Amino acid sequence: MRAGVMDRVAYNERMTKYITANTVEEFRQHLADVHARIGAACAKAGRDPATVRLLPVSKTVSEARIRNAYAAGCHTLGENKVQEAQRKWQAMSDLPDLRWAIIGHLQTNKAKDVAEFASEFQALDSLRVATALDKHLQALGRSLDVLVQVNTSAEESKFGLPPEEVEAFVKLLPAFSSLRVRGLMTLALFSDDAAKVRPCFVRLHELRERLRQSAPDGITMDELSMGMSGDYELAIEEGSTIVRVGQAIFGARKTPDSAYWPDSHGPANA
Ligand SMILES: *Cc1c(COP(=O)(O)O)cnc(C)c1O
Repeated sequence: MRAGVMDRVAYNERMTKYITANTVEEFRQHLADVHARIGAACAKAGRDPATVRLLPVSKTVSEARIRNAYAAGCHTLGENKVQEAQRKWQAMSDLPDLRWAIIGHLQTNKAKDVAEFASEFQALDSLRVATALDKHLQALGRSLDVLVQVNTSAEESKFGLPPEEVEAFVKLLPAFSSLRVRGLMTLALFSDDAAKVRPCFVRLHELRERLRQSAPDGITMDELSMGMSGDYELAIEEGSTIVRVGQAIFGARKTPDSAYWPDSHGPANA
């Protein structure tokens, strides 16, 4: 087995400790736990907890449970897949101010749907997608907050631009007037070993600092979306401003990771 696979197995094993939340009270408790950990990580790093936003990730979670999470205070939800997000958006359009953030790779043929209902898109990594999104947003008279996804782990199985291509890419984004570019997003290596995970977060932070100098007018580089259930405290220590947390709130997920990002060596694809 490759080292990366063993890292991922250990990581997934650790996720199984997260208990499923169903009731509003259970969601309140899980959210309080995560906020307490965010607070502790901020204290350790000398940061103000108000500078870290918790984005609950509701992929695979049923409508009934999402309604309870909403009642417990989750008013913006992250979803990896457009179709799943769109279905949920339609089913829960009765909930005031419920917003949807698309955090997974987008194909151009889904750009129209994202333009229609999403409030943010965190996985921009091609001009084709930028072009398609901008066209549909303009037609609808909407705009969209976007983050550029960067592959900081150099794994082929992850989406996102290689770090060295980001600066040139960002320079082209002012042409897309409906996209409000806010910063960068990454997925770290899946591992229990902080020595392997931390460099991914450091890389994104350093890149953001460099881009702040060179970013064109109208492009702000304030946001760093990094950190998931297994590594958000580490990400906060390294400057994260948005943590995308699913399992620590909703409970361990049974769907294999390979359903959400390509995985050439995971057991689920075998
Ligand atoms: C699922 C997902 C997350 C959250 O992962 P958890 O392990 O549930 O915290 C974060 N980012 C992306 C892009 C995801 O698809």
